Amino acid sequence: MNQAQNPTTVTNTPATYPCPRCGTPTVWQNNANKPFCSARCKLIDLGAWASEDYKIAAQDAPFSDELMGDDHI
Ligand SMILES: [Zn+2]
Repeated sequence: MNQAQNPTTVTNTPATYPCPRCGTPTVWQNNANKPFCSARCKLIDLGAWASEDYKIAAQDAPFSDELMGDDHI
């Protein structure tokens, strides 16, 4: 019966939310790095994206092909 689930309707707390990167309570208003708490978290998130791209690219590397070919059935 409690409808205080939506953060925007909570009145006794300021408009804060946990940083998606580190969980630090972050203010939405006047935040140049939103949705992150800081430029650092923003950059880390971008870096995570970049490394994901590298992982995907690495799957085409000969190394994984060698693993598959070693197990010839
Ligand atoms: Zn953060």
